[in-house]
Amino acid sequence: MERHEDMGFGDGPSRRQILGAGALAVAGAAVSSAVWTPPAAAAAAAKSPAIFYSPHQDDEAIGMAGSILEHKAAGRPVHLVLVSRGENDGLAKIMNQGDCTTLGSRCSAPGHRHALGWPEDGASKVVAARTAEFTLSAKALGVDKVINFNLADGAYGDYDAFVGQVVKKVRALAEQYPGASHKFAAGWLDGNATHKACSDAAHRLMKNGELTDVRFHHIYAYQQYPPAERDRGAAYVLRIPSAQMERKRKSILAYNTWDPSRNLYSLGYHSVPEWLEQAYADPREFVYTLPSNYRPGR
Ligand SMILES: [Zn+2]
Ligand SMILES: [Zn+2]
Repeated sequence: MERHEDMGFGDGPSRRQILGAGALAVAGAAVSSAVWTPPAAAAAAAKSPAIFYSPHQDDEAIGMAGSILEHKAAGRPVHLVLVSRGENDGLAKIMNQGDCTTLGSRCSAPGHRHALGWPEDGASKVVAARTAEFTLSAKALGVDKVINFNLADGAYGDYDAFVGQVVKKVRALAEQYPGASHKFAAGWLDGNATHKACSDAAHRLMKNGELTDVRFHHIYAYQQYPPAERDRGAAYVLRIPSAQMERKRKSILAYNTWDPSRNLYSLGYHSVPEWLEQAYADPREFVYTLPSNYRPGR
């Protein structure tokens, strides 16, 4: 039994207990939706979807989950897009390190130890394992459709080319789903090139009149500011109701689940433990409109 201070995810039962309960509920939800479609859901399917664009695996859990659940509760179909493949060589090195120096006793691997022998190119094992976490998170949130753009995360290389690729993919979805609303990362606040590229793509399509109903989520608010300052400048602060907060937490716990048989290695938690903990504890999300003085570019 871990000491309370080491649990990482706030008060309440130990992580193992939380994870067990989460995994069970997720499996139950998947089964029930497969065997029975309630009439309300069938009616909602006729409506245009809300489409959420998560730049990387974990952004949707940290900063979009509450809004996803809000739209579901309002009867809107929700599509969740994974924009980039999320290559990350640092994560491969962490998973090869043996005794976990990244998380220490907070690491959920048996004995806080992992020597996985993964190639340290950041792609060959990391992308599939990160995406397994994303898929589990999407299930916890009950989204209607998961779409993988599968773009190499080139925002830190040829930025303009990457923006162009995102524009093309988003345009195709806008054409396929007229009347859809589109939810991006507030990349001008997040300070991450991939997130900014998503905002830039939205900005370009909005300028052309190809997207109309568009909002932006300040995903890194949980990292950048203490709780009292996170709402600065937000057009809308979503207060997540407690039942939906439970599901947001399940989606976050997808990133701290150790189950190699399902390709789950707690990669998200090894990557951004503090952000996940902050988002886990904060029942708010911070939604923005595009600033009138928006400047595209890295
Ligand atoms: Zn991200
Ligand atoms: Zn570890």
